[in-house]
Amino acid sequence: MVEVKSMKQLFTEEQIKQRICELGAQITKEYAGKEIKLIGVLRGASVFYAELAMRIALPVRFDFVSVSSYKDGTESTGRIQIRKEPDEPVRGEHVILVEDIIDTGRTLKQLRGLLEDRGAASVSLAALLDKPSRRVTDLHADYVGFEIPDAFVVGFGLDYAQYYRNLPYIGIVEV
Ligand code: 5GP
Repeated sequence: MVEVKSMKQLFTEEQIKQRICELGAQITKEYAGKEIKLIGVLRGASVFYAELAMRIALPVRFDFVSVSSYKDGTESTGRIQIRKEPDEPVRGEHVILVEDIIDTGRTLKQLRGLLEDRGAASVSLAALLDKPSRRVTDLHADYVGFEIPDAFVVGFGLDYAQYYRNLPYIGIVEV
């Protein structure tokens, strides 16, 4: 287990789940009459993904991608490598890409490009957290849980050196 110097709760489990309910309702309304292909970015989006999927009252099919981004720490390598593509073709699908947090925006920008190249009918972006002050791309998410300041956060799927993903809340850590 990797210890941290301090942990300060930023959003409670109740606040997060309430906000995800709102996002699910919004998606349900905006995609009425359509089927959704929900594509999660492993591993950080897993907890948000599950909660969001259950709040969408439309036909939803699951798929996942995996990318390499942060290396066992808090600093980005700046290098994005796609390790796993979706298992099934996305041609003609209405895709919602589900990510834990948007930082520079490089990950989602590259993934959206990939899905558009593969012929998705539409690609929108959902992220539990967004750090707009860190953006180095023109990426804009369609569904955002909470905007947060430039701090390193863990919990609800987000890790520090692979730990703390199972915290039911989101906390700011000092490492
Ligand atoms: P981007 O490509 O937008 O710069 O990076 C997004 C990825 O960076 C996220 O999927 C996540 O893996 C990582 N990341 C960015 N900020 C944080 C943070 O505060 N905490 C954690 N655990 N990961 C972060």
